[in-house]
Amino acid sequence: AKSSSKESKERNIQVFVRVRPLNSVERAAKSCSIVDCSSSREITIKERVNDKISKTFGFDRVFSQESKQVDVYKYVVNPLIDEVLSGYNCTVFAYGQTGTGKTFTMEGEKSSDQSISWQDDPLSGIVPRAMNHLFDELRLLGDAEFTVRVSFLEIYNEELIDLLSPTDDITKLRLFEDSARKGSVIIQGLEEKAVHNKDEVYKILEKGSQKRQTAATLMNAHSSRSHTIFTITIHIKDNSMDGEELLRTGKLNLVDLAGSENIGRSGAQDKRAREAGNINQSLLTLGRCITALVEKTPHIPYRESKLTRLLQDSLGGRTKTSIIATISPAQLNMEETLSTLDYAHRAK
Ligand code: ADP
Ligand code: MG
Repeated sequence: AKSSSKESKERNIQVFVRVRPLNSVERAAKSCSIVDCSSSREITIKERVNDKISKTFGFDRVFSQESKQVDVYKYVVNPLIDEVLSGYNCTVFAYGQTGTGKTFTMEGEKSSDQSISWQDDPLSGIVPRAMNHLFDELRLLGDAEFTVRVSFLEIYNEELIDLLSPTDDITKLRLFEDSARKGSVIIQGLEEKAVHNKDEVYKILEKGSQKRQTAATLMNAHSSRSHTIFTITIHIKDNSMDGEELLRTGKLNLVDLAGSENIGRSGAQDKRAREAGNINQSLLTLGRCITALVEKTPHIPYRESKLTRLLQDSLGGRTKTSIIATISPAQLNMEETLSTLDYAHRAK
């Protein structure tokens, strides 16, 4: 067990699975659970009706129906915070069929009890928890100077929408290669909001979510077809032993991906979806980039989608990437669940 935990520390891509509880639609349809996650690193999908299909997949960790937001944070994001503070870039993706808990996992929800603050809310997801955790760690740095900036954007139909822009309309953004830093892009006009303390965090998150609603209404979009990227950038100014100034920059990208239901088991786009014009270039290219990184092929096709161009400096090299595949436990979603597990397993 010791050697395997060492191994996972050195690996740059980690893959997790989270199963949500059966929902009311599934229960009303008398669709039963077909997942067995009694082991913390293995998940088995069982077709109960004829018992013909039984497939087991291994992952870095499996979060069962009973798992809590705090458990997911502890295993997936907690280890990344030190990396970010040391000046590295990290990315967490939520990948899965629409309705399986990507947004629940990344953003979380608000408890109905109004007296609970977001910092104490058990339903808070990864984004607020990471902000809270980072501010706690930064306060411990003593007299090092630091700044925290966040941006929140949406990719819909390969267009970029700024979810933190101060104006009421939808601001579309353009991407340029950064000539000064190879492999980085500049997003022209992107609002990068300085966050000075915890109290400012929640306002920013709420504003971003509201804007996402507006954008969805105006553009007739469905959240199931858009990706959102919440990026936290940290600059720390330190003095070295000999009085030299050292600047460290670390980044944490938290990505809520579009629904995976149009991606077939082969990893290619479903024919019906293609014909309906629902080509999700970013989701397809992300899969190809991850496969290329895992197989260590020399060419990584970052440039083929907005999502991967944006994240190019945070995927590959000395960065850490974690994928949380979210699934439904129900028999009626079995095909999509197997498809999600296949995709996620390929990243291992
Ligand atoms: P997605 O973003 O993947 O489309 P959502 O995060 O919106 O899915 O989740 C769909 C519904 O399922 C929401 O009502 C959410 O509250 C519920 N849900 C998702 N995951 C969980 C979970 N782990 N525990 C409890 N409820 C969940
Ligand atoms: Mg969602």
